[in-house]
Amino acid sequence: MVNTDARINEIYDVVQKRNPGEKEFHQAVKEVIETLGPVLKKHPHYAEQKIIERICEPERQVIFRVPWVDDKGEVHINRGFRVGFNSALGPYKGGLRFHPSVLLDTIKFLAFEQTFKNALTGLPIGSGKGGSDFNPRDRSDNEIMRFCQSFMTELYRHIGEMTDVPAGDIGVGLREIGFLFGQYKRITNRYESGVLTGKSPTWGGALVRKEATGYGAVFFAEEMLKVRDQSIEGKTCIVSGSGNVAIYAIEKLIHLGAKVVACSDSGGYIYHKSGINLETVKQLKEVERKRIKAYVNEHSDAEYHAEGSIWDIPCEIALPCATQNELGEEAAKTLIDNGCIALSEGANMPCTPEAARLIQHSKIAYGPAKAANAGGVATSALEMQQNASRDAWTFEHTENRLREIMCNIHQDCYETAKEFDLEGNYAAGANIASFRRVADAMLAFGVI
Ligand code: GLU
Repeated sequence: MVNTDARINEIYDVVQKRNPGEKEFHQAVKEVIETLGPVLKKHPHYAEQKIIERICEPERQVIFRVPWVDDKGEVHINRGFRVGFNSALGPYKGGLRFHPSVLLDTIKFLAFEQTFKNALTGLPIGSGKGGSDFNPRDRSDNEIMRFCQSFMTELYRHIGEMTDVPAGDIGVGLREIGFLFGQYKRITNRYESGVLTGKSPTWGGALVRKEATGYGAVFFAEEMLKVRDQSIEGKTCIVSGSGNVAIYAIEKLIHLGAKVVACSDSGGYIYHKSGINLETVKQLKEVERKRIKAYVNEHSDAEYHAEGSIWDIPCEIALPCATQNELGEEAAKTLIDNGCIALSEGANMPCTPEAARLIQHSKIAYGPAKAANAGGVATSALEMQQNASRDAWTFEHTENRLREIMCNIHQDCYETAKEFDLEGNYAAGANIASFRRVADAMLAFGVI
């Protein structure tokens, strides 16, 4: 009989020693493995075959130099990363993040999370993540292009539609995917549509991919509310962030009859009591690439706050869609005191462990990122499916598929939590359901 708690503590010690200083990676690993004790008890062969130990070790990690020249002729050196974490269920799959804060730690935590998220989609995708500490802010289109070309000049050796399929994440959208694909095509002499997802629908991209992460997080919230005989209609919501995920979460909330009163960027947040005007946010962020502060120039009844927390504003539904660890213990307390009923994570790991614990033990329905934001990567898998069959689906068909996938993920997490006497604990349900799926595939392949 294995002492599961002792075994899990030992595994965590090794992870900490082997990956010194990688705090976000440690945090992500801890959050998953501390829920797996009951699984090891029920299925001892996972412990015998050291599946958790294997799942915590990336299959491969590539780090490379990315030199490029800015518009003034100055040379810059950035660092590029691509981590292939687990390929038990399919080719490595996950986005690229371009942000000055990116370290190997960041990419490893994201790739680790992706393992479980991608398994939850039920689609044949493994997990990976990549990116660079490049800061795209205030760079011209030509600078972005030269950076992307240099980045792909190394990355192309490591990816392929059957090997590793990158997409976007923070700082990587349609424009960057275009430049990256162009360079890949040029170097390899192949029009290999399935090598990247998040492409423009005018040249092989899937409709709904752009909207999918935000829409999916809202569909997940809707499912959690249904269990409690409630709905999104008429609710006051806060969505942090104002990037791709936040914009389309706001859009779907508005479609479903909610009122979104606040959103943010790294400079501060706006509060618009009568409801955010989404067209203004899209114009500022998607077209003009400006700071959210500029919103108040168009709407004099809105407030801009450079200080304080967006979560101080009372809301019934909260969607953190900005970045990791953006919502801490204080914010969690405020949400609970203000009577929030549901929180669905659009960003990856947006709640600190302390915040997550408080929310989990409150009356708030808590949708963890691995489940709630899986709509983006799921639609990437639908894009791969369309590319493989040289097909293009309609918006309506793709959105229906996305909704169905999000309902299935919700059901899977809900039922799995119930099976382990943890009803309503979507975080445990998500970790256990996805772990079992990856673990069973790994067992089938033997010790590799
Ligand atoms: N970066 C997104 C995520 O965190 C999407 C990845 C993809 O589409 O491959 O899941």
